[in-house]
Amino acid sequence: MKYSGLKGMEDILPPDIHVWQAVEATARTIFARYGFQEIRVPILESTDIFTRGIGEATDIVEKEMYTFTDKGNRSVSMRPEGTAPVVRCYVEKNLHTLASPQKYFYTGPMFRYERPQKGRFRQFYQVGAEAFGVATPAMDAEVISMLRNLLEAIGLGGLNFELNSIGCAECRPAYRQALLDFFSVKLGEYCPDCQRRYETNPLRILDCKVARCGELRQGAPTVTGHLCEGCRTHFDEVLSLLNALKVPHTLNPNLVRGLDYYTRTTFEVTSEHLGAQKAVAAGGRYDRLVEEFGGPATPAIGFAIGMERIVTLLKDQQEPVQPEPVVFVATLGKEAEIEGFRIVETLRARGIWAEQSYGAGSLKSQLRRADRIGAAFALIIGENELKAGLLQWKNMKKGEQGEVAVADVVSFFQTN
Ligand code: ATP
Ligand code: MG
Repeated sequence: MKYSGLKGMEDILPPDIHVWQAVEATARTIFARYGFQEIRVPILESTDIFTRGIGEATDIVEKEMYTFTDKGNRSVSMRPEGTAPVVRCYVEKNLHTLASPQKYFYTGPMFRYERPQKGRFRQFYQVGAEAFGVATPAMDAEVISMLRNLLEAIGLGGLNFELNSIGCAECRPAYRQALLDFFSVKLGEYCPDCQRRYETNPLRILDCKVARCGELRQGAPTVTGHLCEGCRTHFDEVLSLLNALKVPHTLNPNLVRGLDYYTRTTFEVTSEHLGAQKAVAAGGRYDRLVEEFGGPATPAIGFAIGMERIVTLLKDQQEPVQPEPVVFVATLGKEAEIEGFRIVETLRARGIWAEQSYGAGSLKSQLRRADRIGAAFALIIGENELKAGLLQWKNMKKGEQGEVAVADVVSFFQTN
C-alpha cells in the first residue's frame, strides 16, 4: 500500500523550507517595528464566522470552504482566510478595551477547495496583518507602506501596488444600481455564475475571471465615480500620503476583491513574474466587520500575503541552498567514538553545527559521508590522536589539513 498526499496539499521540504523561514523571520522583524504583535487563532471555526464575515454570495463561501459537521453536530469550517477569525477573537476577547490601535499579525495555513494549479493550492499559507481602531487615512498608508517595506526586505522587486476605493454603506447602493443598469443590457451573455451574481451580489461580476465576462464589462461604471464625499476625501488622502512616502502605486477601478467585508480602500500587490496567479498580497479596509460580529463600531484594515507565491518568486531569483554542517567528527574505535561524541556535543553547546559518525564504517566511508553532507571540516579521532590529545582536522573543500589540541577545538571552529 502506497500513500500519497491529497491533491492541492503540498509538502514543504528542505532546502525550500529555509526560504519559507527566512520570509517569516523578515516579516516578524518588520511587524515588530510597526508594533504588530502575533496572534494565533484556531484553524477550525464555526462555519457562520465565515458565511457572515466573508459573505454568503462569495466564491469562497459558495464553493471553496472545507465545511463538515463535527461529532457534536456543529457545522465547522477550516479557515479559508484569517481576517474573520481574528475579528471573532477581537470581539470575543474584548480587545477593543485595550489601548487603540490594536495591531496584530498571523501566519499559518488556510484552506480553500479550489482547482489546484500553479500558484493555487487547497492548503496554502498566509502571513497577514490587521489593525483595529483607526479610521483615518494614516492607517491605510501605514499598513500599505509596511507591506511595501516587508516585500522589499524579503527581496522582491517588480511589484505593482494596485489601489481602489470601493466606497461605504452610504455610496454603495447607488453604485450597485448603476452596475445593475449596465449589466442588465447584456445579462444573457454573461456566464451562469455572473447571472446569479446579478441577483445576489452584482459587484462580484467585476471580479469574474471568465474572459467573455471581462470583455462584456468593459465600460462598466466604476465605483470611483460613485464615491460619497467622505470616501472620496479619505481615498485622496491615502493616495497623497502614499505619494509622500514614495510608495509606487497605480489605480485600478475594477479592484473589488473577493470578500464582502471590504469598505473604502482595497489593494492588491501583483508581480509581473507570476503569470496567471499574479497577486502576491491583498487587503483592504473593513470598517463594518467588528460591529457585524457584535462588537462596538471599530474601523479596521488589513492584508494577507500568499506565501507560496512569494517563495516561488524568491526561488526564481535564487536557488535555495541546503545549509551545511561546520564539522563532521570521524572516529576509529570505541574509545574514540565516545570522545568524538563528547566533542560533538561540546561544539553544539557552543553554537557550532557538528555531526558525528554514529560509530559506523571505515575512515574512508566516514569521510565520504562528511563530503556528502557538505561539512566544511572533518575532525579525525583515532587511537593515536586520543593518546596524544591532538586531533587531525581536514578542510573538506580546500583539502588542507593540520592538528588541533582537544582543548582548542571549540576556538578553532569558532574562528574558522
Ligand atoms: P486570487 O485572486 O489569486 O484567487 P484572492 O483574492 O482569492 O486571490 P485573498 O483571499 O485576498 O486572495 O488572499 C490573499 C493572497 O493569498 C492572494 O493574493 C494570494 O497570494 C494568496 N492566495 C489566495 N488563494 C490562494 C490559493 N488557493 N493558493 C495559494 N495562494 C492563495
Ligand atoms: Mg481566490
